[in-house]
Amino acid sequence: MKRRELVKSVGIGALAAGTAVSAPMVQAKKSFQWKMVTSWPKNFPGLGTGANFLAKTIAELSDGRIQIKVYGAGELVPAFEVFDAVSRGTAQMGHGAAYYWKGKIEAAQFFAAVPFGLTAQEMNSWLYHGGGLELWQEAYEPFDLIPTAAGNSGVQMAGWFNKAIDSVSDLKGLKMRIPGLGGEVLRRAGGTPVSLPGGEIFTALKTGAIDATEWVGPYNDLAFGFYKAAKYYYYPGWHEPGTTIECFINKTAFNSLPTELQSIVKIACRVANQDMLADMTARNNAALQTLVDKHKVEVRALPDPVLSKLKQLSEQVVAEIAEKDNFSKRVYSSYNRFRRQTIDWHRISEQAFLNARGVV
Ligand code: CA
Repeated sequence: MKRRELVKSVGIGALAAGTAVSAPMVQAKKSFQWKMVTSWPKNFPGLGTGANFLAKTIAELSDGRIQIKVYGAGELVPAFEVFDAVSRGTAQMGHGAAYYWKGKIEAAQFFAAVPFGLTAQEMNSWLYHGGGLELWQEAYEPFDLIPTAAGNSGVQMAGWFNKAIDSVSDLKGLKMRIPGLGGEVLRRAGGTPVSLPGGEIFTALKTGAIDATEWVGPYNDLAFGFYKAAKYYYYPGWHEPGTTIECFINKTAFNSLPTELQSIVKIACRVANQDMLADMTARNNAALQTLVDKHKVEVRALPDPVLSKLKQLSEQVVAEIAEKDNFSKRVYSSYNRFRRQTIDWHRISEQAFLNARGVV
């Protein structure tokens, strides 16, 4: 009996070993046809092209084993439905911004942009080396999604206005397209925030359905032609100091990939995250010059008292999120702790240097 069992188990062992040898070979040939739905118009400069870059990078690194077809907003699903579409598996990947999902996860806003919060460089530090990414993954876990950073806008512009903003009272009654926490701050300042996908902003501004809008920065805003509908272009983007653009992946789809392809997807997102910031930084100033020289846009700074009031309101709004639920409290604590220490360090590094360079 014992001998027979031994022979049998060796036989099974050999068979199992044989399977183990051949399985990776079979898997190595397997290729994956994925869909990526995005919150941006197809090929939109910076954001849509960032999604294309991610898909192309994954295809190249995987030697064509993962092919991803990128869909613009509205092609497969509308801009604000990409989260649900990937969650239920209609597409394997999504490309958007976490603050669009605040109706599902209050704390999601911390993973996109916080008014007077972290810059691009600081956001990446928090996500990769400050515990932020782990919290983000925990936030999306109930939706069977794996999120990660896949782009960054850098400091945005405050937006497009048809009336001068000379004091806080000029914000009263203002109907403005502004998402996330910035929108709530505007509400506290007496305005009415509106959430609209990028592709719908121009018409809303042109027809007067909204009085003002923010989008991203000169490179992106020039592409939408907002200069045809508003005359003042205000800075700085107090509400979005370094917005993280996200890629989220359906968990079942991700788990179906062999380990090396999982690594490729993760590394490609990291490359795309860096590339988008470089793209935006490289092109924003040329676009700004076109807006000013060719389209006669008037660039204006928000007055200090307005920024100061917005900052005060932002602190209230952000702190209140921590009271909504336990998870939000944890995210807020992590983010806020990181913000405090990075402000201390950057005071004598980035900030001191930029101040010094500015006066040379
Ligand atoms: Ca924006």
